[in-house]
Amino acid sequence: MFRKTVGALVAAVGVVGLVGLQAPAASADVVVAARTLTYNASGAAEFKAAVDAGAAVWNSSVANVKLVSTTSSSANIRVVADNGWPRAQTTSLGNGTVWMGREATNEGYNPTRIAAHELGHILGQPDRKPGPCTSLMSGSSAGIGCTNPNPNAREKAEVEAAFRTLKAAGVWRGEFVD
Ligand SMILES: [Zn+2]
Repeated sequence: MFRKTVGALVAAVGVVGLVGLQAPAASADVVVAARTLTYNASGAAEFKAAVDAGAAVWNSSVANVKLVSTTSSSANIRVVADNGWPRAQTTSLGNGTVWMGREATNEGYNPTRIAAHELGHILGQPDRKPGPCTSLMSGSSAGIGCTNPNPNAREKAEVEAAFRTLKAAGVWRGEFVD
């Protein structure tokens, strides 16, 4: 959307406007920064490393959104540990809370896969159960033996599209800054 806006601007103002293009170029950086989501896993107890690993999986899997660890209370995503079943509550695309429930890890489920799966919900992914281990969003339905923390091609493409749309729509911008 930004490129399109710049293109329109160039067309509208012509050569004279080229000098002024430095200002819109700076706002492009703002749009990119808006796709950075912070997560606060300081309440994730023994799951902190698994949450970081799950976030790293997404960072290496998609380009349109980046997860960055923070200790700020105003993080986009809050990750905590409790004794229930792992879950995520999304308040909007890219925002919400993840519970790294001990019930699943006590049964033997892989904590990094759990973290990546729950973060997947925050990134707009639905559950896809039952499903194979190659699917991240198949979650626990893939069985205790499944340790795959990576989204498959479809899951990656959908998250890329979600955050591409976010940029195009612009309505999420305010919520994603910082
Ligand atoms: Zn799920």
